[in-house]
Amino acid sequence: MAVSPGLCKGCGLCIEKCPSQVLDWSDRLGVYGTRIVEPKHMERCTGCRLCQLFCPDNAIDVIRVKDDNEPD
Ligand code: SF4
Ligand code: SF4
Repeated sequence: MAVSPGLCKGCGLCIEKCPSQVLDWSDRLGVYGTRIVEPKHMERCTGCRLCQLFCPDNAIDVIRVKDDNEPD
C-alpha cells in the first residue's frame, strides 16, 4: 500500500478506520504541513481497502500482491 504525501492532509481517518491497526503517524510532513500517515505494521494488513475507501482525499492506494500459491 502507498500513501501519497502530496494528497494526504493528515486527518487521521484511515488510522481510525483500519481494523488491523496497520497505519500510524509518520514523521514526514505532507503538502499541507501536517504529519502524514504510513503503514507501520504491514504484516497485519488484510487488504480490506477500508483505509482507501474512507480517505477523503484519495491519498491511499492498496495494492494487492499476488500470493505465490495462487493460480495465474
Ligand atoms: S487495507 Fe484494510 S487492513 Fe490494510 S491498512 Fe487498509 S484498512 Fe488496514
Ligand atoms: S484518511 Fe487520507 S488524508 Fe486522512 S490521514 Fe489518512 S491518508 Fe491522509
